[in-house]
Amino acid sequence: MWIKGLKHYLYPIKNEATYPITDLEFIKNKAVELATENHEFQDFLRNLNSLSLDKAVFDLSEAISPKIECTDCGNCCKSLMVNIDEEEANNLSAHLGQTRAEFDSKYLDKGESGRMVVNAIPCHFLVGNSCSVYEHRFAGCKEFPAFHVPDFNKRLFTTYMHYDRCPIIFNVMETLKLDAGFKKGDS
Ligand code: SF4
Ligand code: SF4
Repeated sequence: MWIKGLKHYLYPIKNEATYPITDLEFIKNKAVELATENHEFQDFLRNLNSLSLDKAVFDLSEAISPKIECTDCGNCCKSLMVNIDEEEANNLSAHLGQTRAEFDSKYLDKGESGRMVVNAIPCHFLVGNSCSVYEHRFAGCKEFPAFHVPDFNKRLFTTYMHYDRCPIIFNVMETLKLDAGFKKGDS
């Protein structure tokens, strides 16, 4: 196992800032700066044992997530398209005291395939940086950023789609580089 414990918490990432990094502007700029390196890192990760990688990102997420206040951020709710299924729409419309027809016309877009998404970005239910329907939020909201879901190496593309906006993803992936001993040009 190539994870070396959590001693890296003592270190700044790339000597840039306090760790974990939560400055959204810094993360956005860093994502541009590290774009080539991150492509190489994804190739590097594809060559690792899938189960070990799942455990590594799960452990890092469990350690890092409690150090980041999602209510200071809310960036996923400000920038992601949220999918909803019928049961979730039924639950939330009932909670809000609305008929499904009211709820659907206010909050949803529906595709021809039956796919439903929240029709606004930022999400309608974001108040400040917090979810106003937290107990009734959707499965995709609960799952994000999904480091607990198996087969992480098949989700590298989607993870990196959100790397520039989610401090949890940014810190997990940058710490993983250190833990895995990745160096540019390794892949
Ligand atoms: S339902 Fe809540 S958690 Fe989900 S995107 Fe909207 S505000 Fe965020
Ligand atoms: S999951 Fe990521 S993007 Fe969403 S609020 Fe938490 S830190 Fe911010």
